Amino acid sequence: MQIILLGMPGAGKGTQAAQVRDEFGIPHISTGDMFRAAIAAETPLGLEVKEYLDSGKLVPDELTIRVVNERLSQDDANKGFLLDGFPRTLAQAQALDESLAKMGRTLDTALYIHVPQEVLLARLTGRRICKSCGTTYHLVFQPPVEAGVCDKCAGELYQRSDDTEEAVKTRLEQYSQTAPLVDYYRNQGVLQQVDGQQPIDKVYSQVRSILLKLQV
Ligand code: ADP
Ligand code: AMP
Repeated sequence: MQIILLGMPGAGKGTQAAQVRDEFGIPHISTGDMFRAAIAAETPLGLEVKEYLDSGKLVPDELTIRVVNERLSQDDANKGFLLDGFPRTLAQAQALDESLAKMGRTLDTALYIHVPQEVLLARLTGRRICKSCGTTYHLVFQPPVEAGVCDKCAGELYQRSDDTEEAVKTRLEQYSQTAPLVDYYRNQGVLQQVDGQQPIDKVYSQVRSILLKLQV
């Protein structure tokens, strides 16, 4: 399965992707996670992208495309992949089409998790993530059993540095570069829209039934 997840920041892409990865056994490739890991490890890539992530601006296309192409060439991506947060611009979408064509593969579906913009600020400012295993929580909508502690691995929960009101504002503005991708994939006949305003498990049932149909 070759799948991409589309949706505004906070729509629930990472939350759904983790469940798809666990049930369907395909790698969850999040460009945001890859950039954050590089920043934490202070690699040359991390140093190059840090300012973009901190401010909420998009990392330049050329660099992002190179990172994704390298990741897609790794062995585990042979059985398929779930791209989360990529592509985010038309240039990235075209580059992905080219890479897939070179690999002799096609995109099965672009899952568009649609939510109204009004719900996003509360989702993003309440988001907490486990430092050790990356599981996503929300202070109100998906709280851990014990405040500040991961249910799965007892790791410490932290708030992303770009989940502040100021960076969120920039990220929502930057989404104007991503919005045209909905039509891009609709025109390719692969867009499937999911109502992301429902509770997490309801969204997942919709996602799951779409993916199960692809497997038949
Ligand atoms: P994205 O990857 O699209 O930026 P996340 O999956 O990280 O979004 O979700 C953003 C925040 O909203 C997280 O704190 C998550 O727990 C919460 N969340 C995700 N899906 C829902 C939902 N359907 N209803 C309420 N909160 C949600
Ligand atoms: P995310 O974790 O998807 O919310 O991404 C966090 C940040 O990483 C974004 O605000 C951008 O700065 C950067 N980023 C992630 N994916 C991309 C992408 N495909 N293109 C450009 N920048 C990206």
